[in-house]
Amino acid sequence: MKIKVAILTTAFMFVVLTTATAAPIYTFPIAGCTVKYGKYHHDYPATDIDAKKGCAFVAPIAGVVDEVNTEDKWSGKTNKGADRGGLSISIIGDDGNRYYGSHLSKIEANIVPGYKVVTGEKLGEIGTSGSAKGTKPHLHFGISYPTDKGVWWIRRGVGLEKGKTSPWKYLQAWQVGKDLKPKVVIPAVIPAEPK
Ligand SMILES: [Zn+2]
Repeated sequence: MKIKVAILTTAFMFVVLTTATAAPIYTFPIAGCTVKYGKYHHDYPATDIDAKKGCAFVAPIAGVVDEVNTEDKWSGKTNKGADRGGLSISIIGDDGNRYYGSHLSKIEANIVPGYKVVTGEKLGEIGTSGSAKGTKPHLHFGISYPTDKGVWWIRRGVGLEKGKTSPWKYLQAWQVGKDLKPKVVIPAVIPAEPK
């Protein structure tokens, strides 16, 4: 009888310890600031998250830094797709998905391609670089499948699940501490660069 009680106690303690120490896999990509975002995004699935300039853009998941754009080359005259993000960062998450944030005002000095990040690590700061010039500061947040470098039209965000879903529902989950893995659909053929 005494042995049985001891086993039960150990099992109970194990459950308590694991649930109490398990770190979240995902977190909301802006930390320490009031944010506002909706379901809608122009032209393709992504989410624009309004927040004050200088708010922290953090890694939504642990992973490896993929592409970093430290220079704002955007011009309203040319409006080149590759330049629209301004200062931007993408990471390949441990879940295999790519996460992209753009229109930043600053990129942390240690954030370079190949650098390993942990969930919640600061990557940069919210701003209005690229085609967000003259608009309210916001983070353009896109989820996609990994590609070669420079494939901006995929990196900016693709439809999730059945091809139409934006990051919205995942952001909603992460905001309240729920781990929800984005289901990214990888097409047989990667779409060509739009004109
Ligand atoms: Zn956007």
